[in-house]
Amino acid sequence: MSSDRRRFLRELAGAAREVRGVSGAGRDAFAEARAALLRGDLPEETVPGREPDRLGEVELERYSRQLVLPEWSERAQLALRDASVLIVGAGGLGSPVALYLAAAGVGRLGIVDDDRVERSNLARQLLHYTPDLGVAKAHSAAAKLGFLNPEVEIVPYEVRLEADNAAGLLAGHDLVVDGSDSFATRYAVNAAACAARIGLVQSGVVGVSGLVMAIRPGETACYRCAFPQAPPPGAQPTCAQAGVLGPAAGVIGSLQALEALKLLTGFAPPLTDAFLQIKLASLEFTRVNVSRRAGCPDCGEG
Ligand SMILES: [Zn+2]
Repeated sequence: MSSDRRRFLRELAGAAREVRGVSGAGRDAFAEARAALLRGDLPEETVPGREPDRLGEVELERYSRQLVLPEWSERAQLALRDASVLIVGAGGLGSPVALYLAAAGVGRLGIVDDDRVERSNLARQLLHYTPDLGVAKAHSAAAKLGFLNPEVEIVPYEVRLEADNAAGLLAGHDLVVDGSDSFATRYAVNAAACAARIGLVQSGVVGVSGLVMAIRPGETACYRCAFPQAPPPGAQPTCAQAGVLGPAAGVIGSLQALEALKLLTGFAPPLTDAFLQIKLASLEFTRVNVSRRAGCPDCGEG
């Protein structure tokens, strides 16, 4: 770790420590996580009073505003704590997804990204700050998420998800949230999630438009059922060509996090057998129904 980066983390920790309203136990947990971060590792257990089938005092305080929701419950919170979610991409979509899922209390988050932070990322990829330039995104993300919620186990995977490693990366997770920026990755994630029957939230964003889709493989339409073929190379502009506006990625990533919480807790019906088409310039949200396709190579029988 460079001395600049160490100083940055120290300053960040100092600033965060000043935040008012943190309970004594929470402050201790935070101090422990901060010390571990500066050593370059994360503590395995930082939650005082945590028991297998009930929430501890610190958790009751941290999650109090969602626990009081009529749709939510301690059972929903425990389901999140027991859950393991893989996030593909720590960029414009993956940042809000990871921030909201860590904040909400998902027990274990895997972050897959093989890129390093570049200056052109900073206008929308909110997990990365200017002092992170050149740092691996998976590790930059893990550091911030560790500060946000030391109760969550963050596992960075500095690797590019491809068809031949997708199954291995997905193994052991209850859900995968895809915030990648290429059709090849999206189809590889879809095929692996279908094969392993792991729930999936798909998305895409370019310019100020995008889509979100929740999938329960084997039960509801998968990404390939909805979009049997990728557009021919060059037909669909990339973010580098067409641009992308930060808040557009923020809205779509936030919707992905919301759908992930629905799939993990059942607090509301997820957006399955449909995708939401989102045009933010005109604020149009269109639900497009889709159904499973017989003979889908990804989710079809046999
Ligand atoms: Zn399918």
